[in-house]
Amino acid sequence: MKNHQMQTTQHTRQPVVGVLALQGDFREHCKMLNELGAQAREVRLPEDLEGLDGLIIPGGESTTIGKLMVAYNLQQPLCEIIAAGTPVWGTCAGLILLARETDNALAGQPLLATMRASVKRNAFGSQGDSFEADLKVPALGDPAFHAVFIRGPSVERVEDGVEVLATLDDGTIVAIRQDHLLGTAFHPEMTGDPRFHAYFLQLIAEHRGQDERN
Ligand code: GLN
Repeated sequence: MKNHQMQTTQHTRQPVVGVLALQGDFREHCKMLNELGAQAREVRLPEDLEGLDGLIIPGGESTTIGKLMVAYNLQQPLCEIIAAGTPVWGTCAGLILLARETDNALAGQPLLATMRASVKRNAFGSQGDSFEADLKVPALGDPAFHAVFIRGPSVERVEDGVEVLATLDDGTIVAIRQDHLLGTAFHPEMTGDPRFHAYFLQLIAEHRGQDERN
């Protein structure tokens, strides 16, 4: 009976998912989250982080997002919610902010540096080299996930405890997960396929379930 009650509480409140809205394509993420029944909240100030069940750091320009994150006093509170176990997903520039190491970060570029992975900025070239690829993502099942890469990073190395969720045909790692942290080098908010967002909401649901049991 207790189990049943826990499940009920878990599903009565919509998850509130923040999207860092300093720069980049945060609106597309909000739209997709809302379409999936979550409540999206644009995050610009530290108080916007209060009570979030999860957070997305969108694509854009990691140097700009990083500078604004410092200017708006968000760097420390973001590190704190990550340390507290709140699920966080970085897409593209967001993945660069999350990775512990960036091979070619600009000197002094502010980062969150928490995922045990090393990334390389602009690994596939400039804007004009943007491309699309169908990715096999076992965690999402069939069909392949159509992914859009826009000046995206590659994941060069991962350490123990980091799961590789997807690679390009040549083996380049482009999606990873480390416990409650998710990173994708591409833009799942742009193609209308909601499965990566649904996967993140599932991760949030699992995390909320764990919290309620503790
Ligand atoms: N190249 C960008 C950076 O370094 C990321 C591009 C993107 O998010 N689409 O931040």
